[in-house]
Amino acid sequence: MGLSFGTKAPPTALTGEVEVAGLGKKYGVIQVLKDVNLSMAEGEVVSIIGPSGAGKSTFLRCLNYLETPSEGTIAIGGAKVVAGGARLPDKASLDHLRRVTGMVFQSFNLFPHLTVMENITLPQRKVLGSSKEQAEEVANKLLKRVGLPDKASAYPARLSGGQQQRIAIARALALSPKVMLFDEPTSALDPEIGLEVLAVMRDLADEGMTMLVVTHEMHFARDVSDRIMVMGNGGVLEIGPSEQVMSAPQNERTRQFLKAVLDR
Ligand code: ADP
Repeated sequence: MGLSFGTKAPPTALTGEVEVAGLGKKYGVIQVLKDVNLSMAEGEVVSIIGPSGAGKSTFLRCLNYLETPSEGTIAIGGAKVVAGGARLPDKASLDHLRRVTGMVFQSFNLFPHLTVMENITLPQRKVLGSSKEQAEEVANKLLKRVGLPDKASAYPARLSGGQQQRIAIARALALSPKVMLFDEPTSALDPEIGLEVLAVMRDLADEGMTMLVVTHEMHFARDVSDRIMVMGNGGVLEIGPSEQVMSAPQNERTRQFLKAVLDR
């Protein structure tokens, strides 16, 4: 009786681990993202696929403000920012947003002049204020987790691309993100080498990490992700359970794209 009084959630309530609403991005007058919406539950894995130039990478980079979105709302892991005002969101909000997201790039982006151990401990010390010992303990655990426990003192140039990418994943995980963002993490790797990176990502997914993955790896998209989001022309063409999007895409442009990719 009267229980609904006052209990209705406000319209702006953001409940998922990831809630993106009305995200847009313009470069000058060119609109490269328009009204992108995405809601993800904790532990969910979503793959983003679509033709080149669709806006996949820009979307991912807007989520942690590597690119500044022009409009929309981003809420991730308890951090929330509203884009498009006269001023940038305040520094504390942006720091929080970046803290809850871990990013892995196509080109690894390790510091070449630092050892593997230094690459993984430096962000922990700078961002979290960890002591050297704490940071090294975390790094050693993560090196084991990505299958490279004996590479702590190596320099990146001495490692294969697949090993460097696994180190980059360990470095991102060291900051305890709530959501991992992967931007084509295997595109720069030979197919066989890419498999070792995909195996680490699959483990992460199995362990319950929330993951958003821009990828051309259709097997990964189908088998590991819960849902697939197909982007085209700066927007979301469709989003649905992976199996359904792969086997019965609803959108004509998605069908064309999948045919081109799968017929290769
Ligand atoms: P995808 O990752 O799907 O290949 P991108 O997000 O890289 O697509 O690019 C989306 C669109 O935005 C493309 O048309 C691209 O040319 C344009 N774009 C990306 N970065 C910039 C930039 N810095 N300045 C102008 N246009 C850009």
